[in-house]
Amino acid sequence: MTQAKAQAGTGAETPVSTFDSVDPRTGELVGSHPVHDTEHVNATVRRAGEAGAWWAALGFSGRRKRLAEWRKLLVARVDEFADLMSAETGKPANDARLEMVLAIDHLAWAARKAQGVLGRRKVGAGMLMSNQSATLAYPPFGVVGVIGPWNYPVFTPMGSIAYALAAGNAVVFKPSEYTPGVGHLLAETFAEVVTEQPVLQIVTGFGETGAALCRSGVGKLAFTGSTATGRRVMAACSENLTPVLIECGGKDPLIVDADADLEAAADAAVWGGMANAGQTCVGVERVYVVESVADEFLAKVEAKAGALRPGGEPNADFGPMTMPSQVDVVAGQLQDALDKGARALVGGTASVRPPYVEPVVLVDVPENSTAITEETFGPLLAVNRVADIEDAISRANASVYGLGASVFSAKRGEQIAARLRCGMVAVNGVISFAGVPALPFGGVGDSGFGRIHGEDGLREFARAQAVTRQRFAAPINVTSFARGDRAIPRLLKLVRTLYGR
Ligand code: NDP
Repeated sequence: MTQAKAQAGTGAETPVSTFDSVDPRTGELVGSHPVHDTEHVNATVRRAGEAGAWWAALGFSGRRKRLAEWRKLLVARVDEFADLMSAETGKPANDARLEMVLAIDHLAWAARKAQGVLGRRKVGAGMLMSNQSATLAYPPFGVVGVIGPWNYPVFTPMGSIAYALAAGNAVVFKPSEYTPGVGHLLAETFAEVVTEQPVLQIVTGFGETGAALCRSGVGKLAFTGSTATGRRVMAACSENLTPVLIECGGKDPLIVDADADLEAAADAAVWGGMANAGQTCVGVERVYVVESVADEFLAKVEAKAGALRPGGEPNADFGPMTMPSQVDVVAGQLQDALDKGARALVGGTASVRPPYVEPVVLVDVPENSTAITEETFGPLLAVNRVADIEDAISRANASVYGLGASVFSAKRGEQIAARLRCGMVAVNGVISFAGVPALPFGGVGDSGFGRIHGEDGLREFARAQAVTRQRFAAPINVTSFARGDRAIPRLLKLVRTLYGR
């Protein structure tokens, strides 16, 4: 960390610390960013309060136009974003471009659908209150704080940012310390199309900056990151009763049924487990394959995973571990599994070559080893044989996590999906639910709660407001001291007629 003058426009004029983001492939400096303190975070949130009022007053159609301008700008600058994402995370160029595509599609959907989902609408007042006209709307919170991870530095926070903006909130975004440049570029491009007010701002720094955002009095805090940090975020937010959306880690299973397309299942298991060097919250970490097809499936997995190579070149299969300390987590889980009796089908302890980890596929992994019980977040796939689908379902559901899952089955994929304890399931595919903007994204248990994406994701960034308007005087007026002795007996008579039989 170094000392430097505060950047122009960041508010404070006193010297502030800065930190560097570096390219994990080369160790080269990508950029330096300020470490924002509590005072700066609070001032940013205050500015956002005014900006949010202005943004909300634009209405759905005004915001939709501005968000469409931003969308077009993001499309025009996909390669600039992709280069920076590759530099800060080490991910291959086309993986970064794919992430942009998904984020842009979600932005378009949220902007288009916000009015229909959140705008004021009539609801039935019911028989007993038929003299009332009842309406429901979802006004914004004002300012939403977003804290994001580094693994998908555009797509993941945009699940909150785009939906919060479409709902009418200003946003203060704290990107991960590994990807501050990408966060900065998001705010900078938005400011090019919304010049009047700082509707999307970022604050940068480490955990303390994030903690300050939790305590800053934002209307809601949307967090995506590890379960351990999620607990700290929730505790900090509880001080002001700030509502939270918590999107944490996962230990997603992939189930292979006896009648599955084994070629497709193996392809999905290997891509879902290894893409982005396994650093995907909904990446495949555990595979449960029915015994009768296990040998054939494993031969395919071995061939596919064995052919992959990580590297720093733009067309590598996957890049390095973005966060140096994660290499030790992966190595530790690998050793623990081998010590407990697992067998390495592909790779082994020699596969860990920081900053890269080459593909590792373990088989017969004891269910009590950390490679099964804890999030790995690396290119390590644990494959276990199961007697039948019942066995697969019960092992899949045994995790404390419950984010996503995949099921490969020709005949009963959706039946199996319905029995899984998790937020999202891809049948005969992998991670496909994340690409459908209309579908909510989120988990249960240690994977968190609340939803980004879809109608639920829009409502997450708004508060329900109910309004009743009296159309005519009620035949039985019970909310008056002048109601008389007969009002309640008459009401009860009506209720007995309606509901007593
Ligand atoms: P972390 O939990 O380490 O960090 C997440 C964010 O929280 C970062 O911006 C971090 O800042 C910030 N932070 C750290 N400490 C605090 C604190 N005390 N108060 C407030 N904010 C704080 O997660 P990673 O960045 O390592 O991301 C990986 C994790 O994210 C994995 O567990 C993965 O599964 C999960 N994830 C979940 C997704 C989902 O949608 N469910 C999607 C993508 C990832 P800093 O980096 O500066 O420390």
